[in-house]
Amino acid sequence: MGRTSIFFMGGGVAAHLYALVAAQRYGSSNLDVMMVDPSEHAPDRNLCVWGGPLPMLSDALIAEWKTLRFGYRNATMTRELTSLSYQHYSAQSIRSAVECVVPIRRTCANVHEPSATCDVSLDSRPAKHFHRRSTVALQQHFLGWRIRTTNAVFDPDVMTMMDFRTDQQQGVCFIYVLPYAVNEALVECTVFSAEVWNTAEYEQRLRIYIDDILSCPSYEVISTETGSIPMCDAIPNRSRGSNWISIGSSAGLTKPTTGYTVARCIRDAEQMLDLYDATGQWTAPQRAHRRFDWYDRLLLRIIRDEPQHVSTILWTLFDRNPVEVILRFLDEQTSLREELRLFWTLPWNPFLRAIFRR
Ligand SMILES: Cc1cc2nc3c(=O)[nH]c(=O)nc-3n(C[C@H](O)[C@H](O)[C@H](O)COP(=O)(O)OP(=O)(O)OC[C@H]3O[C@@H](n4cnc5c(N)ncnc54)[C@H](O)[C@@H]3O)c2cc1C
Repeated sequence: MGRTSIFFMGGGVAAHLYALVAAQRYGSSNLDVMMVDPSEHAPDRNLCVWGGPLPMLSDALIAEWKTLRFGYRNATMTRELTSLSYQHYSAQSIRSAVECVVPIRRTCANVHEPSATCDVSLDSRPAKHFHRRSTVALQQHFLGWRIRTTNAVFDPDVMTMMDFRTDQQQGVCFIYVLPYAVNEALVECTVFSAEVWNTAEYEQRLRIYIDDILSCPSYEVISTETGSIPMCDAIPNRSRGSNWISIGSSAGLTKPTTGYTVARCIRDAEQMLDLYDATGQWTAPQRAHRRFDWYDRLLLRIIRDEPQHVSTILWTLFDRNPVEVILRFLDEQTSLREELRLFWTLPWNPFLRAIFRR
């Protein structure tokens, strides 16, 4: 087999994941990887995924949990994962793990044109051309504190995926907790709404949660993480020219209703290489069945128009259904029969209203 050369336009998280998947497939000695990005050190960020073991990323793994906790009104519940786990990586840990396996020729610059010589150009610069423009303009935005507490407060085996026991007046809001030790965790205030908040608003909810729900009187904030991810139903045009394909968030691989992207990039890279191996052509894999797009659009409309129902819907979903089916559903890997079983358990009215809204 000849060498494969890949030109990455943008050297963020997606570029490193696609390079790794290609190296696993063809062997790094058969691969030429070039990456152009204007920033030498891309912003580090915590990146979590659920799924089966990912041996290719084992060196990048920071922490892993098998038990998920949820909170709502006066109740909490935990759910055990059996075949899956909730895995924590970071942009930097992924980049370092990839660099150990794949030699990358880097250039620090803006790029505007695909390569004239490489086999394929994979483009993660912001999307410009769309099959469908977004009809909703929401964001998932968050501020998290990594805290160290004086007393033992956390169970390091149990991560909190969504705790809605926080003020819901200004948008769908939940607290997310990644515990690293009995006295150390990332506690994050996450919001789904149209506008990003002032720092003070997240911080006030974090303080109340740490004081009242975690019953923790004494702690120090070691670091802060902020971010925002668009929640939109746009469909970018992935084919930008001959052997020129968009990848990552700019390819629409960020799930509109959850923000999760990493696992979808890995699956997309594998499918793209399957197609290449089968046909000799570089093409973007097909999107998941369009019913998943429809489900996302309904939930986005509910978040936009009836945010007061969202915590009940999400709590009910996890309360009444097997957690691993829900995670596969969010990964767009379920059958229609499984989806109908999930929907049967949910409050229907907000969904029925959302069907008729635009
Ligand atoms: C704070 C935050 C937390 C997230 N957490 C998770 C998570 O827990 N799990 C998950 O699955 N997803 C998460 N995501 C979503 C997603 O995984 C990340 O946004 C991820 O970085 C997407 O990778 P990407 O390569 O598409 O984009 P990026 O990592 O942003 O990379 C795009 C790159 O393109 C470069 N670029 C732009 N213009 C040019 C140009 N003209 N020429 C060359 N390069 C250019 C940029 O400098 C950048 O490095 C998170 C996103 C954010 C913002």
